[in-house]
Amino acid sequence: MPVQSERQNNFFNVCKDCKDSCCRNARPPINSKRKKIIETYLKKHKIPIKNPFVQASYVFLREDAEGYCIFYDKTTMKCLVHPVKPETCVAGPVTFDINMPHQKIGWFLKKEKICALAGMLYKNEGNLEKHLTSAKKEILNLLHGLNSEDLSAILKIEEPETFKIDEDKIDDNVANKLNIKRKQSCKTSSVSLEKRI
Ligand code: SF4
Repeated sequence: MPVQSERQNNFFNVCKDCKDSCCRNARPPINSKRKKIIETYLKKHKIPIKNPFVQASYVFLREDAEGYCIFYDKTTMKCLVHPVKPETCVAGPVTFDINMPHQKIGWFLKKEKICALAGMLYKNEGNLEKHLTSAKKEILNLLHGLNSEDLSAILKIEEPETFKIDEDKIDDNVANKLNIKRKQSCKTSSVSLEKRI
């Protein structure tokens, strides 16, 4: 299993001052491989959180009454499963969408007005490139482990206040999963590659 430093830089110094929290109303998707990794981590570290997964239109992490992820520690403001957290948590503030007619996966960055980390990354080309490379790897790992139904449900989630920074052709694994649902699940994007922070 990759160690924390191989999955994501430590951005806590930027994120700790944020007025909002990405860990609220986040509902990060979980594929079967990540589910097992998190379960093993909880057991090994004796973290007493039962039934952390919700099976709805796709599998995601349970939330508390205030909408915070069940793994968010409100005292430390840190993630209880940081080394093994879900792929979208590592990839943030990079998000994705799939344009089925064009067989492309688009990579989006949150606008600085809603994410200080995004602004910090955008202003440093080297940091953004490094993080985008890592985010793409994480998201593709997530997608490859999802079933068609979960993937189709996830693609219906809107990601407002983002702008497109890159796109790639989708690989066969993802294309095959979406093939049977191509007509009803496609969500196109008209976002351009221009700066929109
Ligand atoms: S898994 Fe961790 S980083 Fe992801 S939403 Fe939950 S608390 Fe936040």
